[in-house]
Amino acid sequence: MIKGRVIQSTGSWYHVDTGEEKIIESRLPGRFRLKEQQVTNPIAVGDWVDLSMNEDGTGSIEHIHERKNYITRQATHGKRGEQILVSNLDAACVVQSIKKPKLKEGFIDRFLVTCEAYEVPPLIIINKMDLAKSGGIAFAEELTDLYQDLGYSIITTSIHDEASVEELKEFLTDKTSAFIGPSGVGKTSLINTIDPAWDFKVAAVSDYSNKGKHTTTFARLIPLEIGGYIADTPGIREFGLVDIEPWELSLYFPEMLEPRQHCKFHNCTHHHEPKCGVAEAFENGEIAASRYHSYLNMLESL
Ligand code: GDP
Ligand code: ZN
Repeated sequence: MIKGRVIQSTGSWYHVDTGEEKIIESRLPGRFRLKEQQVTNPIAVGDWVDLSMNEDGTGSIEHIHERKNYITRQATHGKRGEQILVSNLDAACVVQSIKKPKLKEGFIDRFLVTCEAYEVPPLIIINKMDLAKSGGIAFAEELTDLYQDLGYSIITTSIHDEASVEELKEFLTDKTSAFIGPSGVGKTSLINTIDPAWDFKVAAVSDYSNKGKHTTTFARLIPLEIGGYIADTPGIREFGLVDIEPWELSLYFPEMLEPRQHCKFHNCTHHHEPKCGVAEAFENGEIAASRYHSYLNMLESL
C-alpha cells in the first residue's frame, strides 16, 4: 500500500501525489461512495489516502485517512450534503492591501471567525506596504498589535521588499495553505514572488484538467518549490460565515470568551440585552471598537 495526497480531482479520477514527483491517477472503488454519505464528495482534494496499485499503473484508493480539518463550499459545516472544497489545511492566509484597494477590517474579522469555525489556523497578510505613508504604517502597526494580542499570526508584506517575502516564504514552507482575499490585493503576485514558476504551474494544471468535466468546481493543490502546496480553490471566494446561531457567534471572538461569561442571559447576543459582559468590556476599552463593530455586522447577517 502506498500513502499519498489527493491533489486534484476530475470527477472520477483522483491525482494522488505519492512524493518523489510521482502522481498516480487513481479511482475510488464504489463501496466508498455509500460509506460517507454525509458529503457529496467522499474524497476531497487534500485528503491523505492509501493506494493499491493496478497492473496498468493506476491506483485504487483503499483507505482515506481522517481529516484534521476541511472547508466546504456551502459554508454549512457538519451538515449533510455539503461539498468539501479542500481538506487538511495547515494555514488559511487572508490577504488585504494597506491601500489600492483599501484595507477592510471587517473582511479580516469575518475570515477569522470562519477559520475558528473550521479549525484552520489563520495568517493575516497586509500587503502593498511600499504604498503606505506614515499614517498607513502606523495603522498597520496598530492592527499588528491588535491581532497579535488576540493570538493571531499577522505579517506585513510588499512584493518589492525581499525581507517580507522571505518571512512569508518561511511561514509557507512545507505547509498546505490557501490564499483568500478580494481581487487586486496581490495574492497572485505574492505567490509568484515566492515561487516564480507558479503562473506556469497553474496554467499547466488548467490545460491538463480541461479534459475533465467538473474541474472548475474542484480545488487543486499546487506544489511549491519550497515544499508544501497552495490550494487553488475556485469556490473559495465564498469563504464566508459558517452556519451558526446568533448566540454562538461570540464563541469565535477570542476576546469575548471571558466577558460573555458575565452576561445575564446565557443566550445573550451582546447587542441589546441588559447586563451584558461583552458590551461592558467594549465600553471599558477591553474590546477593540473595530472588532465589536465587525461582530455586530456579522450578527446582523446571520
Ligand atoms: P490578486 O487579484 O489578489 O491576485 O492581485 P494581483 O497579484 O493580481 O495584484 C494586483 C495588482 O497589485 C497588480 O498590478 C500587482 O502588480 C500589484 N501589487 C501586488 N502586490 C503589490 C505590492 O506589494 N506593492 C505594490 N505596489 N503593488 C502590488
Ligand atoms: Zn452579552
